[in-house]
Amino acid sequence: MSVDIDVSDQNWLAGVRASLNDDLTAQTARLRELTEMSADTGDPGEAHNRAALVAATRQNLERTTGALRRIAEGSYGRCEKCDAPIPAERLEILPHARFCMPCQRHHNG
Ligand SMILES: [Zn+2]
Repeated sequence: MSVDIDVSDQNWLAGVRASLNDDLTAQTARLRELTEMSADTGDPGEAHNRAALVAATRQNLERTTGALRRIAEGSYGRCEKCDAPIPAERLEILPHARFCMPCQRHHNG
């Protein structure tokens, strides 16, 4: 199954940007929801879970805004480490990918 996508294709990029923007909206709403929930239910487990959710949502937000910024800067789709093009198939699955596969593996240790 080979998908022939050119990561510098403006139409394709516009699609990625649109979906990233959707993510951004959803994550921002989620974050607001999480932080606006009554702060103290008196249940430490619940508070802990919510803190973890907030942290995860923040991280997602950062990834999404980072990808949008790279699109704007024209560096989207290139590995931040070795500057190799990130395969479009990878970007389809992971639109906010910052590294190519080998660097990602290395990055994760
Ligand atoms: Zn790389």
